[in-house]
Amino acid sequence: MTRIPGEREAMERNAEWLCEQIRAVITALTGDQDPRVPKPHRPGIASWDTPVRYGYRLHAQQVLGPPAPGADLVESTRLTLEPAGWNVRVHYDRPGRPTNISARLDEFSMVVSIPESRDRVDVTASTPASALHEAQPAVGPECPRCERELRAMNLGRRQIHNRWWTCSECGWVGTQDPDDDRLSRMRRLEGDCPFCGEEDAWAASESWESQGELLDWVVCLGCGRGNTRRLHRL
Ligand SMILES: [Zn+2]
Ligand SMILES: [Zn+2]
Repeated sequence: MTRIPGEREAMERNAEWLCEQIRAVITALTGDQDPRVPKPHRPGIASWDTPVRYGYRLHAQQVLGPPAPGADLVESTRLTLEPAGWNVRVHYDRPGRPTNISARLDEFSMVVSIPESRDRVDVTASTPASALHEAQPAVGPECPRCERELRAMNLGRRQIHNRWWTCSECGWVGTQDPDDDRLSRMRRLEGDCPFCGEEDAWAASESWESQGELLDWVVCLGCGRGNTRRLHRL
């Protein structure tokens, strides 16, 4: 899989910056000087283009205390975001109604909502979406078994996160991790897929241990349907 140099790093920096912006909004609205804004472990799929585009979607929620006299939540949001370059739009701001504010800055977006009860604030925001890998690698990696060049497999939308490879020479099948390019072998299984009817199309990953159980991951190479399977209790 041909990684586009610097894209993932830029996306991480964008996500860090966006976390800071969300924290600033929450601090302005709630007075909390150190709000927690969780960042997912890896970016999610933002659009099904070819190549697929990824982005971070962040969400934070915080309790709103009783309003300080003269406090204006909409104005506080505006005063926090506009100096940083955000274009702020207030959609709803009427007494006794939910408040809804959206903001954009280039391809960053943010929505700040305060429910009718005015007891919490929700902030959802996303980074610009971008492709992390070239659509078609020029050359496949080497087969781990026979060293021939591997051929890309297309399992459809369900299995888009990893790249799938097969060897036309020795039949090796496996996945390539998008984060570290590592190849993992999948074992071919017998039996037809109950969903697409393809014969002997299932493949299983190496097993792993989780909470006292031995698990593996099975995927149909025909239709891309897959699930985690419990092999036995340890
Ligand atoms: Zn091979
Ligand atoms: Zn299938």
